[in-house]
Amino acid sequence: MASSTTEPLLIIGGGLMGLAVAYELAKKGRKVEILSRQRREAAGFVAAGMLAPHAEGLQGNLLKLGQLSLKRIPKWVETIEKDSGINCGLKICGIIVPFTSSTQKNNHPTASFGQTLNRKELEIEIPGIAPHWQTALLFKQDGQIDNRRRLMRALEKACVGLGVHFQEGVEVLDVIHDHKIFKGVQIRNAKGKITILSNKEAVLCSGAWSKQIFKAIPVFPIKGQMLSLQAPKAALTRILYGPGTYLVPREDGLIVIGATSEKNAGFQTGLTPDGQQQLHEGIEDLLPSANQWPQMERWWGFRPCTPDESPFLGASALQGLWLATGHYRNGVLLAAITAELLAKCICSKKLNIEEYELLQKFHWNRLTEK
Ligand SMILES: Cc1cc2nc3c(=O)[nH]c(=O)nc-3n(C[C@H](O)[C@H](O)[C@H](O)COP(=O)(O)OP(=O)(O)OC[C@H]3O[C@@H](n4cnc5c(N)ncnc54)[C@H](O)[C@@H]3O)c2cc1C
Repeated sequence: MASSTTEPLLIIGGGLMGLAVAYELAKKGRKVEILSRQRREAAGFVAAGMLAPHAEGLQGNLLKLGQLSLKRIPKWVETIEKDSGINCGLKICGIIVPFTSSTQKNNHPTASFGQTLNRKELEIEIPGIAPHWQTALLFKQDGQIDNRRRLMRALEKACVGLGVHFQEGVEVLDVIHDHKIFKGVQIRNAKGKITILSNKEAVLCSGAWSKQIFKAIPVFPIKGQMLSLQAPKAALTRILYGPGTYLVPREDGLIVIGATSEKNAGFQTGLTPDGQQQLHEGIEDLLPSANQWPQMERWWGFRPCTPDESPFLGASALQGLWLATGHYRNGVLLAAITAELLAKCICSKKLNIEEYELLQKFHWNRLTEK
């Protein structure tokens, strides 16, 4: 639906959600402008790119949201690839979650969606897996996308192609409102100049930093450190998802290893010896031979967490300010459904009853209204 005004809708944050929502809106004919402080700090460039609602053992409404998104991803990615000319590295390669006992396996929240593997079958799937893993669940429907090297770039290129305007190096300092009506944002540009950008509509997509801009939204950072290894080609074909550590094999043999989960690190940047050691211990526990593979890169980032570990989607307390934030460990998985739901709300497209009810579950005031 084309906007009646020529004023662009503002996207606050040019990370994964900002790009996904901007892309969806631009495809619907909306004029969009992305205000981005620093593209490289986005968790979208950090994540392992697992599409793992079942391996992660999501539950309740979050599982439902994840499953809906997973269903939409192939078509969503196909469109992005067509518009950008960049292959996004989507692979529904299946994820294996190993357990030391059947009791442990049966207690996995999404066990009923998986296929049980015995030790022999597990050894065939993951040659060299450590001996204490006796059984596993294979979730064939889960997979991965190469967010770090491909999806983010593809979304940026597709947005540019659709006329989305980017303001890089612009920091949003505050949200301006009159009573309950959104009026614009205070920004600091790359040269340090502070101005007010008046506007009637915006989407808050600032990930782990969202609370710094809009205090009513309780989002906080959970730092994660990662590393990658170069494995012999086809050493792993499926993702191996252990407790606290996972190995994600890309098509070219690169193995992405994640991730620490540092609740007390705040926004402290950089790698730490403890964090990196934890990753190597995790590898040793799962697939000891992988610790011999050449090391490639190490990096870190901040997951946008919320008190109930679920995102805030849809309307905010301010008319004209929308929310797409707080996706915590599952933003890559949830980007497709988030963009679709937000674009429908913003363009006043009718939501079906399932979508409407689902959005209510992720309303910002769910934590306060009890
Ligand atoms: C270690 C790690 C591993 C992960 N693995 C997975 C995984 O395997 N699967 C999965 O589904 N998800 C995973 N995630 C989660 C996923 O990366 C996030 O949920 C997702 O990237 C969140 O997207 P976002 O756009 O909300 O935030 P981000 O991608 O972080 O983008 C936020 C952007 O907002 C900008 N910004 C912030 N403040 C301001 C401001 N004041 N003014 C202007 N711009 C601002 C920032 O510069 C940034 O570019 C992982 C995350 C981490 C850290």
